[in-house]
Amino acid sequence: RTVYLNGDYLPEAEAKVSIFDRGFVMADAVYEVTSVLGRQILEFDGHLARLTRSLEALGMKNPMDRAEWLAIHHKLVELNDIDEGLIYLQVSRGNGGDRDFAYPPEGTPLTVVLFTQAKPGLADNPQAKTGIRVISIPDLRWGRRDIKTVQLLYPSMAKMEAKHQGVDDAWFTEDGFVTEGTSNNTYIVKDGKIVTRQLSNDILHGITRASLLRYAAEAQMQIEERPFTIAEAQAADEAFFTSASAFVMPVVEIDGVKLGSGKPGPVAARLRELYLEESRKAAQ
Ligand code: PLP
Repeated sequence: RTVYLNGDYLPEAEAKVSIFDRGFVMADAVYEVTSVLGRQILEFDGHLARLTRSLEALGMKNPMDRAEWLAIHHKLVELNDIDEGLIYLQVSRGNGGDRDFAYPPEGTPLTVVLFTQAKPGLADNPQAKTGIRVISIPDLRWGRRDIKTVQLLYPSMAKMEAKHQGVDDAWFTEDGFVTEGTSNNTYIVKDGKIVTRQLSNDILHGITRASLLRYAAEAQMQIEERPFTIAEAQAADEAFFTSASAFVMPVVEIDGVKLGSGKPGPVAARLRELYLEESRKAAQ
């Protein structure tokens, strides 16, 4: 695999970062994951806007302009012959010299890394037909979940707990309400109405979420942005989640309770189709 590191395209084994990089010692880094379908980048502008926002929230400047970022994405797709897959992008605050909580001096170069992950069959994921099962887990992450940082230990622990319990993923709860999934935004459907938590610092502002809600509104579907509980989700007609890599994914069981028929519902199926169709049209 050929990867991108600070201006160079290198074989992955030759791409090396300092042990003093703050991404490594402090989790002082932000990231994005973007899908590739039919060799094109989905939601490029949405991910770039959120990257810039995450960087600014942490006092870093976006080191490149849109054309440069897009060219790197396209070049990696070409070099690695990616038809369907993901592009991972990470920007860290760079080499801080000695380990220190204080940021390194202004002008210290950021570390920019991008790599591809081939995922043949990404759009045709068989899990979208069967749906997935989740458990709920207390949300013990920090208070700025709107910033997409690489502090992913707690979500990793939650994912492992889910696997341990024989299910696929976990939904986080706080003060009795669902915040989001380990790596996705969460939704329920009741009497045809789509319910999802409103944006705040408590959740990541999903790029897939923003587009899906726009497409759903354009299709005259009803949407309510408010928190919901696990009990409400268990009593809903349908549930699903969204992310750049899963698109729209039906959830058929929560904490051992089957939803409705126990099979993916029509609203999630329609939204998945709608999302894939519209986002492919807007791909770069
Ligand atoms: N919430 C969390 C915690 C995530 O990690 C992600 C994506 O990785 C999402 C939501 C979904 O965001 P997006 O649709 O931009 O991928």
